[in-house]
Formats: sequence, structure tokens, C-alpha cells
Amino acid sequence: MPAKSVTDYIRTIPDFPQEGIMFRDVTTLFADPRGFRMAVDQMLHPHAGEEIDLVVGLEARGFILGGAIAHQLSTGFVPIRKKGKLPGKCIEQSYTLEYGEAVVELHEDAITAGQRILLVDDLLATGGTAEAGISLIERLGGKITACSFIIDLPDLGGRAKLEAMGMEVHALCA
Ligand code: IMP
Repeated sequence: MPAKSVTDYIRTIPDFPQEGIMFRDVTTLFADPRGFRMAVDQMLHPHAGEEIDLVVGLEARGFILGGAIAHQLSTGFVPIRKKGKLPGKCIEQSYTLEYGEAVVELHEDAITAGQRILLVDDLLATGGTAEAGISLIERLGGKITACSFIIDLPDLGGRAKLEAMGMEVHALCA
């Protein structure tokens, strides 16, 4: 039997959260010890030997990946959260996502100007969420070394959008 790849652990749930959406569910990847380790190791791979000061994760699955990646890199981890969840003073950014409008926040003292940051999430679709995260990080003076995802849905334009902003984009599968 051929070895399993990251894609083999991801399932697609039709009509979630709305009819017509094919939702990529990575909880099955996270739940599997080999799958989870493979995903984290493969996300780390392009950054071997790179200087990274901080991992920033996008709510919510970016926290699970970002925490594991930060642990491996021996860096700190900072969350970007949906509005109203972070207790300290925040900066905020609104954006359009696949299924509506949203606002994300970042603690204003979470990043020091000049810090080299790896931005992490599970999936890149239109790129709106990542773009909002990039904007928050850059407003605090953070330097994004790369944006890393498990899944890239290139037809939705996220990769092109982030690359047009000068971002280095990595994904494990499409
Ligand atoms: P974007 O802003 O359109 O790029 O959408 C990406 C954001 O929406 C990420 O935070 C994802 O976690 C979430 N998302 C969108 N579609 C899916 C999906 O099919 N599976 C898991 N997350 C998704």
C-alpha cells in the first residue's frame, strides 16, 4: 500500500456551512498522529535554517498548526482573532470572506517592529482572511517571511492576491 499523503487525511463535507460549499475538513488530519506530524513537518520544511522570530496564527485552525510550528521553531505564538475575543488593547481589520464579512483583531503590543513572522492558517481560498492578517502584522511593523497553509484553492485567487502583495506563499496541497 502506498504511503499516505496529507491529502489522504483531509475529508470534504458538501454543503457546509452553506449549500453549494465543499468544505475541506482538516479535523481528521489533526486527529491522526501521523497525519498531524506530517502536516506540521511539511509546513516547517521550507523554513529550515531561516530566521523566524514569531509564528502568527489565524483563528481557529491556524492556532492548532501555529502552536505546533512555534514549538518546533522555539518561537513564540501570537493569535489573530475574530473581533471581541482578545482581552487587551487591539488593532482591527475588516475583510470579506468566502461566506460574508468579518473583523479580525491583534493585540497592539503582540509584535515588535522588525520581528520576522511566519503567518499560518489551514486553508487559503480568496485570501481575504490572510490579507487582513498581513495588514495587522505590517501595521505593527512585523516583517512577514512567508504565509503557510495546508490547502490552497488556487481557483479562488488567494495565492495570486498574496503573491501580488509580495508574499511568499507555501501550501501542502490544492
Ligand atoms: P479566505 O479568506 O477566502 O482565503 O478563506 C480562508 C479562511 O476561511 C481560513 O481562515 C479558513 O480556515 C476558512 N475556510 C474557508 N473555506 C474553508 C474550507 O473549505 N475548510 C476549512 N476552512 C475554510
